[in-house]
Amino acid sequence: MTTPAPHISIPYLREEALPSPFCPGCGNGTITNSFLKAVRDLGHEDLSGFAFVSGIGCGAWIPSPHFKADTLHTTHGRAIAFATGLKMARPELKVVVISGDGDLSTIGGNHLIHAARRNIDMTVILSNNYNYGMTGGQVSATTFTGDTTATTPYGNPERPFDIARLVAAAGANYVARWTTAHPNQAARAMKTALQRKGFSFVEMLSQCPTAYGRRAKIGNAQKFLEWFKALPVRKPDDPLTYTVPTHDGIDLGVFVDREEIGFVESMQNMVRNIPE
Ligand code: SF4
Repeated sequence: MTTPAPHISIPYLREEALPSPFCPGCGNGTITNSFLKAVRDLGHEDLSGFAFVSGIGCGAWIPSPHFKADTLHTTHGRAIAFATGLKMARPELKVVVISGDGDLSTIGGNHLIHAARRNIDMTVILSNNYNYGMTGGQVSATTFTGDTTATTPYGNPERPFDIARLVAAAGANYVARWTTAHPNQAARAMKTALQRKGFSFVEMLSQCPTAYGRRAKIGNAQKFLEWFKALPVRKPDDPLTYTVPTHDGIDLGVFVDREEIGFVESMQNMVRNIPE
């Protein structure tokens, strides 16, 4: 009898961090696997040369404690700020931020748009589960209008960000959005993101059946995947008109893919040109 080959993610994961603390049906395991597939497809046998930064929340647990790598688990909303300092101090490292919508686009929203504006050389993977899952299911900047959460018991009166369009408009070199129902498309987008200079960003729509699915009456993980599979995929030449996302009015695919100068190169050029 032959022994089955280990799962492709196993070589990159710390054994002592398994089994994962994620709830049954959580989408963060799928995001982990898509990212590690991208790493494997780029030919990396391990995660040396990478440095992972995350903030607070369930999405932040993807790299830390799971990845067998150098990881920096920082304060709530500040992952990109820490990652910016790390990249400027050690530009040879491939800096990757993985965290959630509450951490990166709500508390940390200012850091996100300025990192995109600077086009600083890092890859950000944002797990968007439409709420602050780990801290109890509070409303976030991506919660749809009308959704019931722990802090909007009568429905969310606010409008959500379209994170992919926001980051694209702010100046990132590469922006894509996929879901946990599209693991292979997501892995290809993450592979491209890791190869781009400048700021690259992949938004992953992800199910949180425990905190969001229950209160917003989406249902279990299967219901999330059915929802995600029905979302439209962008055509490459679709205009980037900003619209307020709704449950069935959010599109997937690549939003920008350009080769503008990254912040590290821009700084190096500036330093070279300082008169002695
Ligand atoms: S609370 Fe939600 S996002 Fe957090 S681990 Fe559970 S299902 Fe996943």
